[in-house]
Amino acid sequence: MAKLLEGKVIAERIKEELKQNIKSLKIKPVLASIQVGSSAGTNSYVLSQQRTAQSLGVEYRLKEFGADVSEAELIEFIQKLNSDKTVNGIIVQMPLPQHMDCRKIIQFIKPQKDAEGVHPENIGKVLYAQAKILPCTPAAVMELLKETGIDLYGKEVVVIGHSDIVGRPLALLLLNKFSTVTVCHIATSKAGKLEEHVKRADVLVVAVGKAGLIKGDLIKEGAVVIDVGINRVGGKIVGDVDFEQAQNRASFITPVPGGVGPLTVAMLMRNLIETAKT
Ligand code: NAP
Repeated sequence: MAKLLEGKVIAERIKEELKQNIKSLKIKPVLASIQVGSSAGTNSYVLSQQRTAQSLGVEYRLKEFGADVSEAELIEFIQKLNSDKTVNGIIVQMPLPQHMDCRKIIQFIKPQKDAEGVHPENIGKVLYAQAKILPCTPAAVMELLKETGIDLYGKEVVVIGHSDIVGRPLALLLLNKFSTVTVCHIATSKAGKLEEHVKRADVLVVAVGKAGLIKGDLIKEGAVVIDVGINRVGGKIVGDVDFEQAQNRASFITPVPGGVGPLTVAMLMRNLIETAKT
């Protein structure tokens, strides 16, 4: 039976370290958060950021826009935050409404205030293995892998999903550890090749958002399984991996909820401390 990688517990430990780091900053860091429109997923992510900020002594300034706000208005507000000396970090909650170009909006955040580590300049530093501000969810996955004590050098790591915020930057972080990284996506599935990649993974990271996508009996005996997916099924939150079966084959596995999610927020706060130093 797999050991549970309890992100919730690890996040508490990291938050204790962050509290000490915040004390040594000698200022109360300010995180400016922008939410456009409203969805159950974003509302719950914002709530968890607010709670974490409060517990760490971080000021969380939330600005809510209606879903019909224009790109120009949003960009103007981001630029105000960029020049506001009282603001240390900025986060724009995703997804944005369809009429907005996320990649364009993100580029207006000053890289030194990019608390989510999503600005192209910060992503570029990930490519060079020089980043101090890391994209939050990939950083959370790396923390979970660190917790297993497994050396990633030469391991077959399979990442499913190639989004800008999870799969792609995560592949770079894993490559920086000398893992042999395979990134799967919709075309892998359409070509009927997903199963064969899953079967040979020493470490499997799934970030798709489709409940039941990965059947537990495909997991290699002793593999590490990190399930990033969040899906609402019949009033319950589940991941992308069939947990019940997978836990009988894996050596370590993340629960959903309580795995990657709580660590993602801790990584956001870690980034904020980094932005507050500049
Ligand atoms: P996304 O932008 O929708 O990306 C999903 C990825 O999955 C895409 O690369 C897509 O490929 C790929 N995909 C879709 N169907 C597939 C299939 N049948 N086989 C293989 N690949 C497939 O989503 P995201 O923002 O990366 O988030 C992914 C999941 O993680 C969601 O459930 C989200 O809620 C969750 N999430 C959790 C956290 C956390 O902190 N726990 C943070 C972020 C996201 P194509 O683009 O080629 O179609």
